[in-house]
Amino acid sequence: MRVAQVDNRAVLIREDQYLDIEKTSQGRFRSDLGRIYDKWTELREWASGLKWSNSVSLGSGVAFSSPAPHPGQVFAIGLNYKDHAREMGMVLPEIPTTFTKFPSCLTGDRAHVKLPSSNVDWEVELVVVMGIKCHEVSSDKAWDYVAGLSIGQDLSERVVQVKAGGQFSLGKSFPGFGPIGPCLVTPDELADPNDLALKTKINGEVVQDSRTSQMIFSVAEIISKLSEVVTLNPGDVIFTGTPSGVGMSFNPPRYLSPGDIITSEIEGIGVLTTFCV
Ligand code: ZN
Repeated sequence: MRVAQVDNRAVLIREDQYLDIEKTSQGRFRSDLGRIYDKWTELREWASGLKWSNSVSLGSGVAFSSPAPHPGQVFAIGLNYKDHAREMGMVLPEIPTTFTKFPSCLTGDRAHVKLPSSNVDWEVELVVVMGIKCHEVSSDKAWDYVAGLSIGQDLSERVVQVKAGGQFSLGKSFPGFGPIGPCLVTPDELADPNDLALKTKINGEVVQDSRTSQMIFSVAEIISKLSEVVTLNPGDVIFTGTPSGVGMSFNPPRYLSPGDIITSEIEGIGVLTTFCV
């Protein structure tokens, strides 16, 4: 199943068609996807028996806002790919390095993001959205609590990020620094949700190119480790870390400029586009 927010309304997507969830369900589910994660199991059952007779064509000009519109918690994992830890000159972590992106930084597909300085870097990441509340979940059960996967950019102001003594969150939370989209894909849609190609292109040039199977802590291990401490709720977001190829690792470092177009791709999910202004 694929869901998204089109014109700020929750929709189901199948190929090039979509269905408005609130209208089709005659109000059983809300129009706001952020309020639907509480009823995730119910939504999946309802959607599986649905007839698509009243679907609408997506068309090319559709605006996808974030499929995780107002999460209660946003987790981000640093240094979760061996090659990225190496390029940052860091030792491999024994537990996931966890920070937050404050939710006000979240945005959707085709967002125009204002660069606050000339030190803003890209980080393509697989984004997990939780579907069922959990605490102290083992890694072999962790996928059962996931609603789906999306694409994210963990945009990072590198000077602010390191200035705060290892507390990354502020440097990663300027307005627009958390694009997520274009849609949310349930894990069963993907041949292997643990091994997806992911890429960043800047103005068409490939700068990051890896696979999620290269993670140090897998999606299931991240969920299990986080849930040892916190309760994860429906709609919560986890940015799962970025592979090598960030601008900071270039010699000299290469950061984003106004006019740059970031395309973030993950196999089986789609393409997330971000415009730097
Ligand atoms: Zn990151």
